[in-house]
Amino acid sequence: MSVRVRIAPSPTGNLHIGTARTAVFNWLFAHHHQGTFILRVEDTDLDRSKPEYTDNIKSGLTWLGLNWDEGPFFQTERLDYYRQAIQTLLDKGLAYPCYCTSEELEAMRETQKAHNQAPRYDNRHRNLSPEEIAKFEAEGRKPVIRFKIDDHEQIVWHDLIRGKVSWQGSDLGGDMVIARTPEKDGDTFGQPLYNLAVVVDDIDMNISHVIRGEDHIANTAKQILLYQALGAKVPEFAHTPLILNSEGKKLSKRDGVTSIDDFRKMGFIAPALVNYMTLLGWTSPDSEEIFTLEEASTKFSLERVNKAGAKFDWDKLDWLNSQYLHKISTEELLPLLIPYWQEAGYQINLDNDKDWLLELIALIAPSLTRLTDAVKEAKLFFTDSINLGEEAQEFSTQEGVKEVLQQVINAHKSELTSDDANGIVKQITKDLKVKKGLVMRSIRLGLTGELHGPDLLQTWVLLNKKGIDKTRIESVIN
Ligand code: GLU
Repeated sequence: MSVRVRIAPSPTGNLHIGTARTAVFNWLFAHHHQGTFILRVEDTDLDRSKPEYTDNIKSGLTWLGLNWDEGPFFQTERLDYYRQAIQTLLDKGLAYPCYCTSEELEAMRETQKAHNQAPRYDNRHRNLSPEEIAKFEAEGRKPVIRFKIDDHEQIVWHDLIRGKVSWQGSDLGGDMVIARTPEKDGDTFGQPLYNLAVVVDDIDMNISHVIRGEDHIANTAKQILLYQALGAKVPEFAHTPLILNSEGKKLSKRDGVTSIDDFRKMGFIAPALVNYMTLLGWTSPDSEEIFTLEEASTKFSLERVNKAGAKFDWDKLDWLNSQYLHKISTEELLPLLIPYWQEAGYQINLDNDKDWLLELIALIAPSLTRLTDAVKEAKLFFTDSINLGEEAQEFSTQEGVKEVLQQVINAHKSELTSDDANGIVKQITKDLKVKKGLVMRSIRLGLTGELHGPDLLQTWVLLNKKGIDKTRIESVIN
């Protein structure tokens, strides 16, 4: 059997971390089995679906490297297939029109509540006579279509992550609506609904394995009944664990991030984020933690996906991101960092300054955890004036500091190399008979306003290339 899986996002918001992680598992599973990964956009909720969300989902998946083999397919372009399936179910007597008004349904729920019963549709229009139907039609009522769910039926499947799962038909809320009321006179029914559309698509697209979040478990029970009613083979199911915050609750907007865009803006890079998502609920058999999607796919299996919720661990994501940032070349980092610098208002002239920027990146890259850190790390190279912090202020009054800096000004060269800088340090240490540490700290203070930072000689060389080393030091001693 060839493996065919799909990710089926609803374009009612930007690409969500939960959806993206489901996409990762589907992608890994497909690639492990040389299968096919399909993108299907479930856009039947016309009020909430927006084309810009579809664009965001597509670009987010592409950014993460989760390329799809088929699609995107859009459910709004496939309505005829759903209509045919609904008609088939009506013809087979497995579905029927229900004429209940919203007031009647509300009253039903109130009565159930008063009797401490779970709310459900009580199947009251399941066996309407032709006369009753004619009467409702004459009243101008418009029906929804409901699919019959037998209360006594037990729905059992072997979930590839959760093992045996079973649902009682009576726990599914009564006969389920599969189509809304008709919009046009003469139509038997209106807009097809989610569970029906998913099943029709999964049958039509030959989906072999449905891998999706555990919040869909109740839908799976209903959908299995639909597969059977439509005479189709039921695919395998695997329900992935939810992503939880540090308090063990579902990761939500309150945690500050939900969409892949949020993570991108926070300075995470795609290979690190996708690597992290791979580990959200799955462990590699060899306990490796750093891998590309391709590498992970060779070892991926659903058996190694946890049932329990996956806790989102920011420290781990930061750690992974830094591992990736420290590995990639300055040439690759350059285009990733420029947007953050530009957003911070730093003037970048790529044509003139490319080599200088690459040297700057080489200098600060070891201190980066997120791309956003580069704003702070590079600030002193892009601003004219510097401010001394409290500690630096105090140090600036220490004996010898100003003398060292005066000497540096005297020794100023317009094209300083690292060797030159080293020579100047040595010379000053000798001439002033002071410790090298004092000289280094003084120069750092004069150049950066700080007492700590990246490699001093290289910092000096870079500021010199920008022509701001001397003026900086002058501003500190005056
Ligand atoms: N459209 C559904 C969602 O975004 C997914 C349905 C499915 O995977 O079957 O949650």
